[in-house]
Amino acid sequence: MRKLECPICGGLMSIPDDAMSGELFEHDECGGQLELEIDEVGNYKLKQAEEVSEDWGQ
Ligand SMILES: [Zn+2]
Repeated sequence: MRKLECPICGGLMSIPDDAMSGELFEHDECGGQLELEIDEVGNYKLKQAEEVSEDWGQ
């Protein structure tokens, strides 16, 4: 596990070591959708994922 800072609320988020670039995580503290980015030198960072509509219709 590694700890990364949430870009939305600034809190820490635990990311598994086997997480892959592009994987989506939800931060429990703020409910934000975060996308993991791993660059070519292996730095992990989180960015806010695009809002996904939760309107699935009725
Ligand atoms: Zn957060």
